[in-house]
Amino acid sequence: LLNALPFDNSFARLPTNFYRRSRPQGMPEPYVVAVSDSAADLLHLDIKEFECHEFADYFSGNALLPGCEPLAAVYSGHQFGDWVGQLGDGRAHLLGEVKTANGACEIQLKGSGQTPYARGFDGRAVLRSSIREFLCSEAMAALGVPTTRALCVIGSDLPVQRESFETAAVVTRLAPSFVRFGSFQHWSSLDKENELKQLADYVIDRFLPSLRDNANPYQALLCDIASRTGELIAHWQAVGFMHGVMNTDNMSVLGLTLDYGPFGFMEAFDAGHVCNHSDRFGRYAYRAQPRVAKWNLYALGDALVTLIGHPDIAKSIVDEHYDHTYQATFKRLMQAKLGLLDGRPDDDDFIEQTFGLLQAHRPDYSLFFRLLSRLSGRVVDNESTRTDAPVRDLFLDREACDAWLKLWRMRLRAEQSDDHTRQAAMLAANPKYILRNWLAEAAIRKAQAKDFSGVNEVLQCLRQPYDEHSGFERYAALPPDWANGLAVSCSS
Ligand code: AMP
Ligand code: MG
Ligand code: MG
Repeated sequence: LLNALPFDNSFARLPTNFYRRSRPQGMPEPYVVAVSDSAADLLHLDIKEFECHEFADYFSGNALLPGCEPLAAVYSGHQFGDWVGQLGDGRAHLLGEVKTANGACEIQLKGSGQTPYARGFDGRAVLRSSIREFLCSEAMAALGVPTTRALCVIGSDLPVQRESFETAAVVTRLAPSFVRFGSFQHWSSLDKENELKQLADYVIDRFLPSLRDNANPYQALLCDIASRTGELIAHWQAVGFMHGVMNTDNMSVLGLTLDYGPFGFMEAFDAGHVCNHSDRFGRYAYRAQPRVAKWNLYALGDALVTLIGHPDIAKSIVDEHYDHTYQATFKRLMQAKLGLLDGRPDDDDFIEQTFGLLQAHRPDYSLFFRLLSRLSGRVVDNESTRTDAPVRDLFLDREACDAWLKLWRMRLRAEQSDDHTRQAAMLAANPKYILRNWLAEAAIRKAQAKDFSGVNEVLQCLRQPYDEHSGFERYAALPPDWANGLAVSCSS
């Protein structure tokens, strides 16, 4: 039960300069917009046990869960490449941490009012961005992408001014830890070696205790973060996810997708796509994500240098561990998407050719792989126009598609691929449902009119993204006309 959540708040036991105590502000007449059953399971919460109003009170910040010790953590970061010396949880409250079967789980409210780090901003989050973060967190987890989770969205009629007036909401996030690259940068920029070491020790002892066996555990910590980040970005690229604001304060040291804002999923493929309207120079374009992550890791290495020993060591750790893990993971994920069950060393070339095809002809990224999954690996030439139609129809230039399909089938033949097994594997690697912007937008518009059915239907599809959901075919479709020109920005 909520009243019995066993809080044990390790972050609150860090020295008090790591955070400021801060109480959530609460919202008038809060209502439950959506709850993720599967996130609730992480806390062993059976949500059917709760009275709605009780749940809404706790997760709006109106009431405090017994045992929580709300605080806002300090951090800094590079935002769009520029150093910003003081950030921190401006509108988020860490309630504390609960022990679960899978380890520690921190519970954090986002949008729960100003903290000492609010820097003059209002401490709020709007319903629109809270629903986006909620749906995408849960979608990413179901896609197997490392991510923070989202338990619920609680709304209120409290007005919040952005470009226009919107209403407030609080999203409850769950993660083993919300420590960011910027949390380390904060202490190194202030030359506070003591605090830097305390934070590194905290992360190691809580999450990576085996690193203590290394001669220099801080070098091992950077190796670990570099590898996790490589894995994370490989997942993003393979699923076509664009974060939109890869500032160092939005990079998790546990390699989780963190701080969902103006993110997007690739639709008509374009490696140069920039999902965030506010990102005028395309710093965080899809194709830039792998190198930006590395740049961010260099910044982290820089921050850790007094613990690691020498800048050259930090740099070579990032070069070695990030590049290797990114490339290996990306290759593995793309092989799975292409149905190459028996991976070959030279698959890199074929993967590159595939991206060349996508870039030249811009089919919808997720539909391309999903529809490809069902094609047969053995097609008689004079039959192929009919059997290949679902994939060919994504291309204006059918011959370019045919030529690539021929190469794909040659590759399948090389491993004597069995159609049935391969198709099943591809359908489990290529989601039917992704959080397209139009889909989020449609659910948000309904929710803004107090109809939460859209959010909950979309959630059900995204929680089982590889399954067919009869009656919800439309949620897997290309954007309808009304969604042309939808743009998302940093406004949240
Ligand atoms: P973001 O771009 O959402 O990652 O936020 C960058 C920083 O600004 C973080 O420190 C946030 O806590 C803070 N921030 C963003 N929006 C608000 C807001 N409405 N009120 C207070 N702080 C905010
Ligand atoms: Mg349950
Ligand atoms: Mg952030």
